[in-house]
Amino acid sequence: DTLLKHAYSALYCSKEQGKGQYKFYTTTMTSKALKYLKLEKLLHQALENKELLLYYQPQINVETGKVTTMEALLRWQQPELGMISRDEFIPLAEDSGLIIPIGEWVLHTACQQTKIWQEAGFDQLSISVNISYQQLAEPTFTQMVFNALRQNNLAAKYLQLEITETSFSKNINLVNNIIEDLQNIGVRIALDNFGVGYFSLNYSSLNCLSLSYLKEPCFNIVKLDKCFMENIAEKTSLEFAIISIIMILANQLDLTIICEGVETQKQLDILLSTLPNMQKFHVQGYFFSKPLCVKNATNFLHNHY
Ligand code: C2E
Ligand code: CA
Repeated sequence: DTLLKHAYSALYCSKEQGKGQYKFYTTTMTSKALKYLKLEKLLHQALENKELLLYYQPQINVETGKVTTMEALLRWQQPELGMISRDEFIPLAEDSGLIIPIGEWVLHTACQQTKIWQEAGFDQLSISVNISYQQLAEPTFTQMVFNALRQNNLAAKYLQLEITETSFSKNINLVNNIIEDLQNIGVRIALDNFGVGYFSLNYSSLNCLSLSYLKEPCFNIVKLDKCFMENIAEKTSLEFAIISIIMILANQLDLTIICEGVETQKQLDILLSTLPNMQKFHVQGYFFSKPLCVKNATNFLHNHY
């Protein structure tokens, strides 16, 4: 038993540092692994006990200054431990397969809330939902999306699904086929966290790969990752140069751009100076609003829709 427990601890630490790793057990690993096991057990009950909830963060069309879409962001309010960090529980849900029922609940709840908002007068509001690779790999995924729309009587054109560059690169053919099916029913697809690899991974190979995703016919929207915002205040920065190029490319390819992580007026002004076209440009970030609970998101809509 002890040997297996220690092996499990080492496995957990290895997984935490990414794929293709191995680790020898050390005593400090035990507490981390125990915490992980405890969270996994609690997460199993979270859905049933109604501990999960969605926050919503507005995406703003800069030209009009109005909200067009809300991004649904998952939160876990655990009665004993309080609010659990997403960095801890979303990877856990993905590893344990719990992301399948949880993701279904997210999609259903997000569609339901959007219908409520539309009926309250925000009639063109869209919803954006994050999708993990594990969900895409489920053979019933497209049907599940279809059911969530039908059960909530929400037209497909109001649903946007966010798929990360990393998910896309895991199995381009699989993801492309699913996206095609979804687009045929009218769902829009956003390439999420675009460019996250520029600054963290080996330079040249990833740059070419990332940029080549932009010409995939399947994406309607590209979400520039918030890592670009960190240095954008400098017009001489690499981030500024890359964003300028991406803006031109996206405009040529008729894609909508959403810049994430905009926190200051200065960042916004610099972004605006890179734009060839205002119409297809949206921003999301603390400068406009943090993710909000339903009540506060509704208030935000009353002021900015
Ligand atoms: P993401 O899709 O990149 O979501 C954007 C994250 O950036 C959110 O963190 C949001 O709170 C944060 N953010 C927004 N504006 C700003 C800003 O101006 N500055 C900074 N520093 N941060 C900003 P959050 O809510 O913690 O979500 C983290 C990640 O968890 C998401 O990253 C997404 O990958 C994942 N996630 C959230 N909800 C779901 C879900 O329902 N399903 C799945 N599969 N993943 C989800
Ligand atoms: Ca997202």
